[in-house]
This record gives sequence, structure tokens and C-alpha cells, in this order.
Amino acid sequence: MIFLTELLQLYHKYGIKLVKGFMQYVWDDKGVKYLDLHAGYGTAFLGHSNPKIVDKIYEQMRKLMVASYSFDVDIRDECIKALSKILPKELEYVFFQNSGTEAVEAALKFSRKYTGRKTFVSFTKAFHGRTMGALSLTWNPKYRKPFEPLLKNVVFAEFNNVEDVDRVITDDVAAVVVEVIQGEGGLERATHDFLHAIRSRCDEVGCVVVFDEVQSGFGRTGKIWAHQHYNTKPDIITAGKAIGGGYPVSLVAIRREIGDSLEIGEHGTTYGGNPVACAAVLASINVLLEENVPKKAAKIGEYFAKRLKELISNREELKVKGLGLMLGLDVSEDPKPLIEKLLRENIITLKAGESVLRFLPPYMITREDVDRVIEALEKVLVSFK
Ligand SMILES: *Cc1c(COP(=O)(O)O)cnc(C)c1O
Repeated sequence: MIFLTELLQLYHKYGIKLVKGFMQYVWDDKGVKYLDLHAGYGTAFLGHSNPKIVDKIYEQMRKLMVASYSFDVDIRDECIKALSKILPKELEYVFFQNSGTEAVEAALKFSRKYTGRKTFVSFTKAFHGRTMGALSLTWNPKYRKPFEPLLKNVVFAEFNNVEDVDRVITDDVAAVVVEVIQGEGGLERATHDFLHAIRSRCDEVGCVVVFDEVQSGFGRTGKIWAHQHYNTKPDIITAGKAIGGGYPVSLVAIRREIGDSLEIGEHGTTYGGNPVACAAVLASINVLLEENVPKKAAKIGEYFAKRLKELISNREELKVKGLGLMLGLDVSEDPKPLIEKLLRENIITLKAGESVLRFLPPYMITREDVDRVIEALEKVLVSFK
């Protein structure tokens, strides 16, 4: 029997076959155990196969796996109740999608409907997803170029340039979409002044502020939402990655008046809000709150950042980036060789931007785990330059 079907190769491969995961660790088919600071682009923030989440998903799967939004299900209601404990109280509606990029699409569509305007503002190094709409707001030319033409009415402004804010946010802008901490783009944090300038300018011209918290949300930065470090409020939050504990699910949380501008049938999704995804989000919220995850992420993240800073104290070309457990080491050149070397030390990391070695570990990593990473970095950095 000849098998002709093969996977389309769109990803750089490491030649490792994973067979098992538990909390901050994964194992390959040779029994090698890795410390996982990649965690599926941060998706396994609550741990690989966290038993509390797995049990809840299983339980729901046995009961009811499929129910569209046209039908009520208890698990969805319970999930939404739990969400009200962790969402800014102004964001009264939620709508579930399946991936981060779809949450961004929903945010774009809802903003256009609500404002009746066309233009979107995004920023340099922004990453918002790979579907045509979200891609139009994604900065990296490598991701965009082959697929043009994209959406026309998108303006890119310089991230963290406060002076530029008033100029680009005009009265034909429907929404400004911004990552509070840029994930894919290189772990750059928005400044306080920048986010506040966006908020006040959007209030002036009446456009929607969307915080894309797909990567920064759900406790990773030390608060449930990264924007809570800034004392400002969005009109829409997009969330994904960690919110399902590894199960693919995303959501938008939106202000009532934006939601009320939409009519039945104007937007939809086949899988969105399915009972299993809702069970995953509910269980994840319970873990987030019961285990005090944001606080733990803040604490171990602080230790991690401190150790990284010590490590690079005598190397000017290196810089520590990010916040909480959304951390990076800017090595001012392609970090791929470092990633490969760390893999040989059984540590999985990933890249961000052009020159940042990124760490998105599960929240339960220990000081010993961090020490191990620092030790390995010490070793691999010696031969790096
Ligand atoms: C990963 C990411 C997305 C896209 O999420 P997918 O689930 O891959 O579609 C969007 N925005 C941000 C900030 C992200 O980090």
C-alpha cells in the first residue's frame, strides 16, 4: 500500500516526535523529557493535559459534543458566568470563535457595523493572525506579500509613537487594534502614554479600541489581562491561545452598545461556542482563579527576568523583554541557532520578531526549571558569538 497524502510543509521542523505532555514537560518517542517554554505558542499556559481541564472536557464529550448557538446548553451558560468573573465589567457580551485570527475577524466586523466606518489602524510589528482580514492588520511583509491584495483601508502607525496617534486616528477610523505586549513581533511592551493616547483619541473621534490579548491574556503577564497593568479599558478584547487550556477556542468580549448594533444572522460560526470548547474554557477559568495563576506567573516571571538580567549583565547587545511569563531575550541576531542548541539541552523555546528568543512557559514552572534554563543559556550563549 502506497500512501500518497502528505502534510503541506509550512513550518520549520525540529525532527522531534512528541508523544506525551504533562504540565510544563513533554516527552518524545525516545523517552526524552523536555522542559517546554514553547507550549504550543503559549497555549498550554495552564500545563499540558492539565487533569482538571482534561476531566471536564471528557465529561462534556460524553454528554453532548455538538450544539450550535441556536440551542441553549448549560455548559455555555456556566462558562459565560465564569467569564464575567474575569472580564472587565464593561464588556458585557462574549462570542466564541475557534482561533485567534477569527476573534480578530469578529472584532473587525463588529467595529465596522457599530461605527459605519471603513478604516482600521494597526501598528508596526503587530501580529493579529493569518486570515485575510486579520492578516491585513499584521505587519510582517513575509506573511502579507504573497497574498495581496489585502484589505484596503488599513493604516499602519509606529508602535509606541505617541505623536503619531492623533494623526492616524481620524474620524473615518472604525477601530484601532493593538497588542498591549507584542507577542510574535518581539515582546515589545506598549508604553503607558501610548495606550492612554489611543484611548483618549478614540473617545474623541468615536472609534473602537480593540486590545488583542490572544497571547498576552489569561494571566500570563501577571494580571488576567495585560491591559490591567495600564489602568485603561478597551471596547473589545480578543482572547485565544491559553483560554481553553490547550483546546482550540477563542472569544471576543465586547461592549454592550457594540453588540447591540448587530442583528441576528449578521455573523456566525459553525463550531464557535460548542459545548466541548465551553467546558474547556470553564475548567480553565476555574484553574486560573483557584490556583491564583496570575499571581504565580508574576512571581516566577519576576524571578525568570531577574536571572536573565543577571545572565546578560556584561553583554550590552542582549536585552530582556516582556512581562510576567511572556518573556524574551533580544540577542540582536537570528535566535534560531540558539533555539536548536537549547533543544539539545532538552529545552524548547521559540522565536519572536527578528532577533528575540521567546519564552512562553506554563505557569507552574519552578525556580529549578528557570535555573536550568539559565544554566543552559549560559552554556549556549558562550558559543553563540
Ligand atoms: C497567535 C495570535 C493571533 C492568532 O491566533 P491563531 O489562533 O493562530 O489564529 C492573533 N493575535 C495575537 C496577538 C496572537 O498572538
